[in-house]
Parts: sequence; C-alpha cells; structure tokens
Amino acid sequence: MINFLDLKQINSNSRAELIEACTRVIDSGWYIAGSELARFEGEFAAYCGSKHCIGVANGLDALILTLRAWKELSKLKDGDEVIVPSNTYIASILAITENNLVPILVEPNEASYNLCPEKVKRAITSKTRAILPVHLYGQLADMPALLDIAKQHNLLVLEDCAQAHGASIDGRKAGNWGDAAGFSFYPGKNLGALGDAGAITTNDDELAQTLRALRNYGSHEKYKNLYQGVNSRLDEIQAAMLSVKLKYLDEQTSHRRRIAELYIKGIKNPAVILPLVSADSPLSLTTHVWHLFVIRSEQRDALQQHLLSKGVQTLIHYPIPPHQQQAYPQLNAMHFPITEKIHQEVLSLPMGPTLTLDEAAQVVEACNSFSS
Ligand SMILES: *Cc1c(COP(=O)(O)O)cnc(C)c1O
Repeated sequence: MINFLDLKQINSNSRAELIEACTRVIDSGWYIAGSELARFEGEFAAYCGSKHCIGVANGLDALILTLRAWKELSKLKDGDEVIVPSNTYIASILAITENNLVPILVEPNEASYNLCPEKVKRAITSKTRAILPVHLYGQLADMPALLDIAKQHNLLVLEDCAQAHGASIDGRKAGNWGDAAGFSFYPGKNLGALGDAGAITTNDDELAQTLRALRNYGSHEKYKNLYQGVNSRLDEIQAAMLSVKLKYLDEQTSHRRRIAELYIKGIKNPAVILPLVSADSPLSLTTHVWHLFVIRSEQRDALQQHLLSKGVQTLIHYPIPPHQQQAYPQLNAMHFPITEKIHQEVLSLPMGPTLTLDEAAQVVEACNSFSS
C-alpha cells in the first residue's frame, strides 16, 4: 500500500537528532518558555523573513489569539466582519466566531482554490474590518491583489499559513504578507512537531508584545496581568523538535515539488482535473509547497475506490464545507455552489517527503487506468 503520508518514516529519518534534542531538554530541567522556544522563534522568524515569531500551543490558537490581540488593541470589536474563504478548513472560521466576530464566507477562484479578489471586493461592507486569506493546499492566495484591496479599505490581513510553510511569491514568503500570520505545526503539516504546536509571525512590535502576554495568562511581566489571557504556550520539547525539523524543510519541499511535477506531467486522464498552479499570473509552480496534491473528479468516490484497489491510499480535504457543518446552523441555509462542487470532487493523492519517485509513478499509473 502506498500511504497517503508516512509520518513515522519522516520522523525516523531524523531520529538520532530528535532524540539528542529531547535529551537536551530533559537534562536542562527547564520545560516551558526557555531557550529552546526562544531559539526556534528566532529561527522561524528568520525563515519567514518576519521580525517576530510568537510560539503558541497550536495553529487554531495562533489565529484565535491574533484576532483577540487586535480586539485588545481596539483594532477590532464584537460584531466586526472578517472575510474568509468558504472552502477552508473549519479552524479558520472557528478563530473568527470564537472572538465574537462575524465570518463572511467568500467563494474561491475555482482554479486555484484560493480567495478570489474580485469576490472579496464585492463582499466588503461598512462593517468589514479584516481579511483572513488561507493559503490552501500550500499555494499562496493572490496576496498582491488582496493587500491592494486591504489597503484601499483599511482592512487588517491575517494569513492562515497552516498549509503553506515556505510558500512564496517573488521571494516573499507566506507569513510575511499580512499584518500577521498563523502557522500550525500539527504533525502532518509541512513543518510538523511531534505533537501540537503553532506560531504567529508579524512585523508589528505592539502586536507581538500583546500576543506574548495573551499566550501566557495575559501577563507581560511575572504576576502582573494586563489582559484576561489564556495558557497557549509552545513547549520546550516541541520547540526543540521543530528546530531539528526546520533544517530539512526546504529539502523536503523540493522533493514535494518533484512529486507534483511527476503527477502533473504524468496524469493524463480526462476524468481527472489536475491542480492549476498558474491561474493567477504572479503564481507559478515554484511558489507552491504542495502540502496536499489535490485533484478533482466528477466520479471522485469511484476514483478513490479504484486507486485503493491499486494500493494507493487517498484522503478527502475536506468532505463537508464549513457552512454545512452542524456547528454553524446560522450558515446552513447559505449556498456556495463553487465550494459545494469542490467538496464533492476533491481527492488528495499521496504526497510527502518520503514518497519515492517510483511510488509516485505507480500513483500516476493508477490514475491513468481509471475509466469512468
Ligand atoms: C491545520 C490547520 C489549522 C489548525 O491548526 P492546528 O494546529 O491543528 O490547530 C488551521 N487552518 C488550516 C487551514 C489548517 O490546515
């Protein structure tokens, strides 16, 4: 069986270094908010090209706390509208509603799966205060266009970079476009910890300072509490794991790109729609970090069965769009035709740093032998 993603193999490849890092933390006697976190924050900020990186407990908290910080800084208030793609993972929406803000779902560009700037413009009202673009599947949203719109309408921009570590347009990386960005280091992400972890990147000193307090009970100084904060810290042990894994991220991204190229060149089946990576002019193959390689088919379920019968494991990201989730009855009556179609047709092929080129060739063959 060709696995969708072999996490065990990925981490086994760095086993000795991970154990060494673990041992260093165990022997240090310091397990929260110490030198490992400071080091990883410095390394990841440098990697993204951002001034600050603030480690938090997970990717959802990175988004929640950034919006919360803007509320504390009086840049947002209850009831403000935040524009977000309708085809995102539910976490992007949860971060908005958790803060008593109103998610305004906007349909994506059907070719890139990312926010369509024209539709964003049309969704802006007198209550709109922020845009939350998601760099879905590893490809940056059309940030030059979205930043233009944000500037024109004085909107904050929070990037959801959970799937896009290292993705870039013209050398400017994910996490360094908006006013702030949330990253997830969930084990299966392109940069994954061995447990939960997340971070925010920003170039804004005041925001960074507020976030450092919010993640730590709202305390900027021991036993002094400026805000009613939360406990959302990135553990020393996970920070140490992430420092090891960050060293290999670019190499692993190159490998993902090789696999993507094999898929794009090799899959020739009219029943399969391949990802279009240059739907918007600034985007090209090299800007994509291929967190997921997502194809579409009108016979998605039959294709998935066929691939399974050929020993190829696939997953669906995601089967139910946020507006149809039980968690959001207020959105259930809404209709987003592009999003609904995408959710019915998408299928994620095996993709990852340990997938061999041979295995990728087998995936191509399995896709090509599907007949509708
Ligand atoms: C994974 C993910 C998140 C949430 O990250 P966690 O670390 O699991 O909380 C948020 N947004 C998107 C788009 C994601 O893929």
